[in-house]
Amino acid sequence: MLETKVDTHTHSVLSGHAWSTLRENAAAAARRGLEGFCLTEHGPAVPGAGPFFLASAQKMLPGTLGGVRVFYGVEADIMDFKGGLDIDDKSLFGLEFVIASLHDLCLSPGTPRENTEAYLGALRHPCVDIIGHLDDRRTPSEFATIVREAGRLGKLIEINNNSLLIRKGSRPRMEEIIRLCGEHSVPVAVASDAHFDDMVGAVEESLELLDRLGFPESLVANRDLASFGKYLAVREARVESAWKERFGASGSIRRKGRLAPPGTPGV
Ligand SMILES: [Zn+2]
Ligand SMILES: [Zn+2]
Repeated sequence: MLETKVDTHTHSVLSGHAWSTLRENAAAAARRGLEGFCLTEHGPAVPGAGPFFLASAQKMLPGTLGGVRVFYGVEADIMDFKGGLDIDDKSLFGLEFVIASLHDLCLSPGTPRENTEAYLGALRHPCVDIIGHLDDRRTPSEFATIVREAGRLGKLIEINNNSLLIRKGSRPRMEEIIRLCGEHSVPVAVASDAHFDDMVGAVEESLELLDRLGFPESLVANRDLASFGKYLAVREARVESAWKERFGASGSIRRKGRLAPPGTPGV
């Protein structure tokens, strides 16, 4: 049976429609035996979400809570069919993990071609790591094109457990995505999309599905802190070089005093 020890998609009360605090999420993660989780609040375009500077405000938070590594991230909203996001560039560069999602609350979904272009544009931003809930039938897209491009860029595809629980019609779509990722050797991250502490790290339905489809364990990037750290090391090099290209300054400036190397307890 597959296992994942890092949950790459969680929300706290600061997302506006989630019910647990960061500390409660961390305690739940520890109870489940997780080694880490990504705090990925909604971007400001989601009604009730935090302010535009919330992503960068995470600098004030510790890097571990209750012995669990907390990676600071965001679930940014795709705002147009070119893949523009609702978080400013400098904030994106200061984060450790960035999900880009299409929410119909923020952008009325277009045709499958338009939605595909939106996803591709977001994926091409150097700080974006993963597309959130690609399976969502409200935002239909060309899965094969997106999976191949994620593979080319060294990015991840999300297996969102919440989709299997609450997004109608997601299961067969998720199966298709998993098959494509296997066929093209594109790594996935299995995530709860928790909006309540009991959901943190609860991804059994996704793991069962991956197991049933014979998905290779080696392509699950967040199976533990070590495997996730390997992804993050490659990511760090990509983001660092993009930072230098855009802002012409040293990469170390952007995260002064906050980011510990992946897997390091505490910062
Ligand atoms: Zn979402
Ligand atoms: Zn979410």
